[in-house]
Amino acid sequence: MTKYKAVTPLVLAELEDIVGEKNVVVDRDKLENYSHDEVSDPHYYYLPEVVVFPETTEQVARIVKLANQELIPVTPRGAGTGVSCGAVPVHGGIVLTTEKMNKIIKVDADNLYMEVEAGVRTGEVQQAAKAAGLYYPGDPCSGDSCFIGGNVATNAGGNKTVKYGTTRHQVYSLEVVTPTGEITNLGARLTKNSTGYALEQLVIGSEGTLGIITKITLKLVPLPEHVLDLLAVFPDYESAISSVAKLRKVGVTPTCIEFMDNSYLKSIEHYLNIKLAYSEEGHYLIIQMEGETEAALDVLAEKIDDLCSANGAVAVLMPDSEAIWKARKSCIEAVRYESLVHCDEDIVVPLEHLPYCMRTMVEICDRHNAVARIVSHAGDGNIHISILPGGISSEEWEEKLARIHHAIYDVVYPLGGRLSGEHGIGFKKRALMEQYTDPVELAMMRSIKKALDPNMILNPGKLFVV
Ligand SMILES: Cc1cc2nc3c(=O)[nH]c(=O)nc-3n(C[C@H](O)[C@H](O)[C@H](O)COP(=O)(O)OP(=O)(O)OC[C@H]3O[C@@H](n4cnc5c(N)ncnc54)[C@H](O)[C@@H]3O)c2cc1C
Repeated sequence: MTKYKAVTPLVLAELEDIVGEKNVVVDRDKLENYSHDEVSDPHYYYLPEVVVFPETTEQVARIVKLANQELIPVTPRGAGTGVSCGAVPVHGGIVLTTEKMNKIIKVDADNLYMEVEAGVRTGEVQQAAKAAGLYYPGDPCSGDSCFIGGNVATNAGGNKTVKYGTTRHQVYSLEVVTPTGEITNLGARLTKNSTGYALEQLVIGSEGTLGIITKITLKLVPLPEHVLDLLAVFPDYESAISSVAKLRKVGVTPTCIEFMDNSYLKSIEHYLNIKLAYSEEGHYLIIQMEGETEAALDVLAEKIDDLCSANGAVAVLMPDSEAIWKARKSCIEAVRYESLVHCDEDIVVPLEHLPYCMRTMVEICDRHNAVARIVSHAGDGNIHISILPGGISSEEWEEKLARIHHAIYDVVYPLGGRLSGEHGIGFKKRALMEQYTDPVELAMMRSIKKALDPNMILNPGKLFVV
């Protein structure tokens, strides 16, 4: 275990020399904003000693070199919208935020790509692509606030992965500062590439432990001509979820198949102060399709209506798209509004096990008298179950949650599932990662970390213990 050193006045002076005085923050009030991400439980808050706001890749590299020299941990941070405490400085030291590296460098509409700095908001990436008549399909629910660099670091998913894949499928190449402070470019703007290890793919999803991403070259695709949203309402979650595998075979790959259980609908109604259709007892599937013509989408809509009705849907509607997506994207906030203390799981299972897994998880939570709310990127097997304590003390809650976790993951892993489909492991899920990951796989991950970061400078305390 590395013994880190404190940030001294001398180190602060060197940081100021690198990024300028205005870009070095030590005021306690301001540091507090960087002591947590979107996990609202104060058990997971850790104060950094200093926050730095570099404006160039060269500054990032110099900060990392200084940190290696002085043995000070560096926690990279985007917008702090993570939900697994990945950007929380559990060993103190320096938080390095990309907030001031927020330029869209280039949109090349002829060659379908975009170059951006890591601190550009994902929503701005989407808008810039659209302004050029193109489409960036990465679409996490936090798109209005998270940064593209954070998306790459967590391999964010979101609503359109059924058709377009996760963030790693949108990336050509990365500019990265290595854990020892070198600047390099990984990957290339090529359609195919078998030239050695795909190191850009290793850095994608590494949650700031293997490099600081400073620039990204993203793939763009043509804007879909027509988009159709359908809302299928089911009387129980089993019939909704058992429709998912069938919907993936309607002839065209859906863009999204999202599930919201009835308790989530009620939670969102309360949070947004709105009324949702069939919220008394309905469970939702939101299905989005893209097509070249409206007529083609009409044919698909009929097929989906028939399929869902045959599977028990009580209604298949064309919803107000803006309203339904606002509701879907408010799930995390709605549950936090109910209870600051809760735990959000990010389980992913092979699609055929989705109905069984969901049923079993609800049973496990019931058995432990915990409250469960389920929302799911169902089309890609990703289940977000929010577990709420339901009024018990915090000591009892920790102990009960540990039992619930073990019961759930003892089911998920033998089915070929994993702990995280898109949120990452961070600090919050580290113990579970160690417990459930194959020991050989874990040893390979540790070897990579040790080889690339011999001083354990970059985001220590995350993913696993080294
Ligand atoms: C309301 C809400 C909805 C959400 N919906 C989704 C969703 O649909 N899909 C999804 O996948 N996630 C979702 N999330 C989680 C979160 O938004 C994503 O994980 C997002 O990718 C984090 O981006 P960020 O810029 O906020 O990163 P941060 O939270 O700041 O950091 C996340 C991790 O990435 C690392 N990191 C950040 N920037 C860099 C960089 N430049 N270089 C190296 N490492 C870096 C950090 O060290 C940390 O480990 C949601 C969160 C909220 C609050």
